[in-house]
Amino acid sequence: MVNKLIQELNKLPGIGPKSAQRVAYYLLRTPEEQAKQLADTILSVKQTTKLCSICFNVTDSDPCLICRSDKRERSKICIVEQPQDIPALEHIRIYNGLYHVLHGAISPTEGVGTDDIRIRELISRLDDGTVTEVILATNPNLEGEQTAMYLSKLISPLGIRVTRLARGLPFGTELEYADDVTLTRAIEGRQDF
Ligand SMILES: [Zn+2]
Repeated sequence: MVNKLIQELNKLPGIGPKSAQRVAYYLLRTPEEQAKQLADTILSVKQTTKLCSICFNVTDSDPCLICRSDKRERSKICIVEQPQDIPALEHIRIYNGLYHVLHGAISPTEGVGTDDIRIRELISRLDDGTVTEVILATNPNLEGEQTAMYLSKLISPLGIRVTRLARGLPFGTELEYADDVTLTRAIEGRQDF
């Protein structure tokens, strides 16, 4: 049973065999109540969390709080690859527009094509003319750049300003791990793409 737990933990991102072992033995030592709380929380998050039908962020209510807010600028949409990129951007408090989560990036090597991520849904959000700027905040790596390039070619002809986060995010990194200063500079210094 312990081995099974180690195996399961090892499947989590960023948890190697050593860490999996450490967490497993930690859980064995914790009171049953605490372990149960963790298990229950995982299950209830899985059961109650859904994707916002507008921006595809994870949310308890649909539409999500950001899409529903009347304090957000509806003329801007910031495109990110994953839901976990949004807390990173929200944390620095300088962006006040809306978001769109692609749930991936175009990657021919991994067989992820343009139809496999939420591009069609994004384009339909641009239909009514409310959005005047799209900020491409895909990760500064090969897949992220390819995706930004593709989206730019698709969106620019619609007469919408397309910007890309400023360089300064180290190439190959992921947005969710960028520090606040770098991220603030990247968004403030965004350039036409
Ligand atoms: Zn939303």
